[in-house]
Amino acid sequence: MAKKLSIIELHSLIVCKKPLLFLLDYDGTLSHIAPTPDEAVPADGAVDVLENLVGKKEAVLGIISGRPLKELKKFIPIDGIIFVGAHGAFIETNRGDLTSIVDVAEVNPSITEVHKSAVKFTDGKSGFLIEDKKVSVALHFRLADDKEAEAVLTNWKNEIKPLLKKNKLELHYGKKVAEVRPQGADKGVAVNYIIENFCKKNDYPVYIGDDTTDEDAFKVLKKRGLTILVSDVERPTSAQYRIENPDDVVELLKNVADDLE
Ligand SMILES: [Mg+2]
Repeated sequence: MAKKLSIIELHSLIVCKKPLLFLLDYDGTLSHIAPTPDEAVPADGAVDVLENLVGKKEAVLGIISGRPLKELKKFIPIDGIIFVGAHGAFIETNRGDLTSIVDVAEVNPSITEVHKSAVKFTDGKSGFLIEDKKVSVALHFRLADDKEAEAVLTNWKNEIKPLLKKNKLELHYGKKVAEVRPQGADKGVAVNYIIENFCKKNDYPVYIGDDTTDEDAFKVLKKRGLTILVSDVERPTSAQYRIENPDDVVELLKNVADDLE
C-alpha cells in the first residue's frame, strides 16, 4: 500500500534530489478521467506547469501513455518533452526524433485481426469504443452496460486467445478498458529505455500514474526513484506514495517547478 503524503511533504522529498526526470502518465494523472478518451482534456493548469518545467535546466520531462503520440501531442502541445505513446511502442524524443521499442511492421497484421474480432463482437451494441493504434487495440467500455460488456469481453477473449499466443501479444485491463499489445511493450520497459537513452546519470526519476499499466513503471523504479500513485482510495500498488487526483499532481508540479533552475 502506498503512503499518503501531503503536497508539502512530497515537495520536500523531491526537490532535494534535483536534477529530476519527471515521468508522467496522462489519463487520470494530468487529466481527469472522462466518459470518452476525446473528452479527457488536461486538468486546469497542467499545460502551463509542464511548459514551465520543460524550460528548467534541472528537469527532463517525459509523458508515458497508452494513447497514440498524435493524441498526446494534441492535448499537450509542448516542444522539448519526451512523448511515449502506445505504452512505449512509439517514442518521440525531446529533440523531435521518432523511435520505437516495438517492430511495428511485424506486429501490425496480428493486431488487425484482433481489431476485426473486437468490431465483430461489439457490432450493433452501444457504449463501446474501439481504438486501433497499429501496435495495439483498446476496447473501451465505460459507457456500456456492465453485463453486456462482460459478455463482449468473454467472447472477444476466447476468439483471440490463439492469436495472442501465436503472435506474442498480451491482453491487459485498465480503467474500463481492455487492451491487446505486444509482450514487452509496457511502461516499465519504456521507463528503462528513457533512462538509458535520454538521461544524465544523476537525473532522479519521479514517476506519477494512476492505473494498472503504471504498475510496471512503479516496479522498475522501486529502488532508484520516487513513485506516486494518483488515487482517492487506498489500493494495492507498487508505488511508494499516493496523492488523490490530477489537481494535486498539478499543484505538486507547480511547487517543485518553483524550486528548480
Ligand atoms: Mg492513467
